[in-house]
Amino acid sequence: MPPLEDYQERMAHLWETLHLTNNGEYHKALKEELKNYLKAPNLMLFNNGTLALFLGLKALHLSGEVITTPFTFPATVEALDWLGLTPVFCDIRRDDYTIDADKIEALITEKTTAILAVHVFGNPCDTRKIQEIADRHHLKVIYDGAHAFSSSYLGQPIVSYGDMTMLSFHATKLFHTVEGGALVFSESKLEEELGLLRNFGIAAPEQVVLSGLNAKMSEVHAAMGLEVLPYVEQEKLRRAKILKRYKQGLEGVAGIRIVNGDESMNNSFQYLPIEVDQEVYGLNRDELIDLLKTHEIYGRKYFYPLCSSFSWYEGNPSTNPKNLSVAMDIAEKVMTLPYYGRLREEDVDYICACIRNKVIYQEGGE
Ligand SMILES: *Cc1c(COP(=O)(O)O)cnc(C)c1O
Repeated sequence: MPPLEDYQERMAHLWETLHLTNNGEYHKALKEELKNYLKAPNLMLFNNGTLALFLGLKALHLSGEVITTPFTFPATVEALDWLGLTPVFCDIRRDDYTIDADKIEALITEKTTAILAVHVFGNPCDTRKIQEIADRHHLKVIYDGAHAFSSSYLGQPIVSYGDMTMLSFHATKLFHTVEGGALVFSESKLEEELGLLRNFGIAAPEQVVLSGLNAKMSEVHAAMGLEVLPYVEQEKLRRAKILKRYKQGLEGVAGIRIVNGDESMNNSFQYLPIEVDQEVYGLNRDELIDLLKTHEIYGRKYFYPLCSSFSWYEGNPSTNPKNLSVAMDIAEKVMTLPYYGRLREEDVDYICACIRNKVIYQEGGE
């Protein structure tokens, strides 16, 4: 949270202007600041990441099938569902959990119109290979970048890849507006249609030109973004230190792997996922979560269950576990650890010691 007084000052101003939403001054200011900060060619704000993705996909006029990953947050595939698009699930890479680009081409049919990939835990997708495939088959490329705010990859801002990248500004993300999101897109001509889609399709008073909905970011939310943004760099630096501490603390713990420990590849600083190899470590992921809970340390299964296992995809041939063997395996092994700037180094050491020593905390015990 930013300093309360600073936010209150922004609110006091709203009590004077009474301009609470519909492209107010905070909205305009946040849009410009984010564009600069992210080096985004075009950027539009939304009331959450899910609707940003949904309307972005809508503006691309996709149809038929979209190749995507089962190892993601439900919102990624639910955005497809609401547009009547069929997700075609592709397996993921074992080392970084992003979509396995080598398996995409075999899934393309004449109904395929796009690839929707996710920078999972900030791990960058193989953007080069994905773009090559898309170009060869005339497909659009959309990235769910909810985990990759302000990341860079191969020397470029991560939002520069593909036709479009969705960002989420939910309270749990690195940068937030309480609820909120954005689209970064390469073609500036999309801006007009996206603006209409975000505001009921209203082009002018008494002129409704297409069927949209309401997905605007309010001034109350934009104000939070303006106050949070100046702290992002500082938060990233703190988290870089915490990551280093975790790396030291977990070094040599057999069967535990920090998934995105390589800062040259992943500079998102949003999650701290570990993979638990039961055969080597002795406990499985769920047992480790339970053990940590006894110490009041709350890890999370992430992402679990796989999207391909949702009941409404029954009958979708791409959900066949045979074709998703890596994702099936990873979904049983991965969890995230506490990770935020105010986490103290001694707390990190304690968490690592609990993982290393596997001792269940008991009242009155050691
Ligand atoms: C948070 C998140 C979303 C959803 O964003 P909201 O802003 O909460 O709607 C989508 N995809 C991923 C990968 C996320 O982590």
